[in-house]
Amino acid sequence: MSARVNQSRRDWLRCFVPLKSETPEPAQADPNVPKKAIIQGRHCLAYQRSFCSTCSERCPVEGAIKVEMGVPQIVADACTGCGICADVCPAPTNAILMMPLKGKSRHV
Ligand code: SF4
Ligand code: SF4
Repeated sequence: MSARVNQSRRDWLRCFVPLKSETPEPAQADPNVPKKAIIQGRHCLAYQRSFCSTCSERCPVEGAIKVEMGVPQIVADACTGCGICADVCPAPTNAILMMPLKGKSRHV
């Protein structure tokens, strides 16, 4: 049996799209400009019916990303805007945008 059998999807994708970092640091967000993650379905592997759960696996905030039928959705009220999901998204075009929320106080 070859070693490839035990290779995760993420490891396989890394052959083509290297991640920025294995242990990403949270995005250095300006504390005066709160942000929330949003998922662009047209770039998301899961939305394209290809299995991926990297963002929900790596999100440090319980309940900030819910997954229904294999598709992730950001729960804006729970998202702290740390940016880890955007850092680890393995899609060829990053599917996660960190959008500044102007005129609102930081949600913690
Ligand atoms: S990590 Fe990126 S491609 Fe994978 S499910 Fe999340 S948003 Fe989609
Ligand atoms: S920005 Fe942070 S808290 Fe929000 S969904 Fe992404 S990883 Fe989770």
